[in-house]
Amino acid sequence: MSQIRGKNTRPEILLRKSLWKLGLRYRLSSKLPGKPDLVFRRFRAVLFVDGCFWHGCPTHLSWPKRNAQFWKRKILGNKNRDLAVSRELKRDGWTVIRVWEHQIRLDVAQCALRIRRKLLR
Ligand SMILES: [Zn+2]
Repeated sequence: MSQIRGKNTRPEILLRKSLWKLGLRYRLSSKLPGKPDLVFRRFRAVLFVDGCFWHGCPTHLSWPKRNAQFWKRKILGNKNRDLAVSRELKRDGWTVIRVWEHQIRLDVAQCALRIRRKLLR
């Protein structure tokens, strides 16, 4: 799991800085299912930053031509696991927030504001 969910990637660090500026506090390490990137205990919410390639972003995923079968299985497997993890967390009463890596690259401040809205809801 840790291989596919790169910890401390650049987009993730940018997002953390923006959230911090908004006064949102979080924990990084988590033993929760799927190892969420950030945990907001106060709001009983978790956040995942999904890499466009590994998690099969509909906008940016271009299937590799070499070893196509392997990658297809791998990425679809990741997507299925993401769904299962989200379901499990929600069942346990967590709010699950997922952010695509490209959304952060596009406008990190906007991302952080959207996350705050979800937390305060
Ligand atoms: Zn994307």
